[in-house]
Amino acid sequence: MASILVAEDLSAVGGISLSAALPVLTAMQYDVAALPTSLLSTHTSGYGRPAVVDLSSWLPAVFKHWTQAQLKFDQALIGYVGSVELCGLLTDYLTNQNLDLLVVDPVLGDLGKLYSGFDQTYVGAMRTLIKSADVILPNVTEASLLTDLPYQRHPELKPTLTALQRLLKPGAHAVITDVERDDHIGCAWLDERGDVQYVGQPRLPGHYNGTGDTLAAAIAGLLGRGFSLTRSLELANQWLNLAVAETLDQRRTDERQGVALGQLLRAILALN
Ligand code: ADP
Ligand code: MG
Repeated sequence: MASILVAEDLSAVGGISLSAALPVLTAMQYDVAALPTSLLSTHTSGYGRPAVVDLSSWLPAVFKHWTQAQLKFDQALIGYVGSVELCGLLTDYLTNQNLDLLVVDPVLGDLGKLYSGFDQTYVGAMRTLIKSADVILPNVTEASLLTDLPYQRHPELKPTLTALQRLLKPGAHAVITDVERDDHIGCAWLDERGDVQYVGQPRLPGHYNGTGDTLAAAIAGLLGRGFSLTRSLELANQWLNLAVAETLDQRRTDERQGVALGQLLRAILALN
């Protein structure tokens, strides 16, 4: 079994980020090292202000211990990090890991705005972090923040992707994750010739928590299992469509809980 280090926030209630990545990657037959970058009582959408523990002083001790214990990871997925200091710590630790694959979801903002608590210094730290990545998964907002191009809900994809590629090492891929085309939602990236590629699925009604985190876990897992970028993005988008459809079917009364994972996990197990 390959090992994967997943570094992102752990929200006790709400079923997103690390809570979603763990089952997805376990079903994909990884040994998962789950590293919370911060601890929250709930995620930040709809529950009021969560109780938060900043883990900046714990993380250096973790990396020190792991180094002493000679732990090695094959792959890593980084989601929400939260501070410039933690971005630096993660960059330093992972650079010494000789990973086969590093996937970064550069969590910075949505709907054209930085998330609260983030500033341009943090965007700069994220630009440094993604230099080590093999694949980055920004949404349209994050693509604009990283490239300094003005935010547009429907950006011109070729110049935006070209500008993102310039921030990455040779051979790495930038994939924008919430691209809407006609009545579809999906991912856009540049192929080897520099042409824009797109895979998407019908957009279902509503907005759901945790779709981006789950998508990133699925993509990281598939790429690490040897699927091509195109096939990984096709499957991951199909799976997320299943998850959103299942969530809709459940007619939930609490809309804060992350997307349902039952059908998605069945699809993953069918692949094994
Ligand atoms: P987040 O805002 O959590 O980062 P995104 O909006 O980027 O998530 O969505 C990630 C993926 O989840 C999309 O690329 C798509 O595959 C799926 N998805 C999200 N919302 C919907 C929806 N309403 N209908 C169908 N699929 C969706
Ligand atoms: Mg996202």
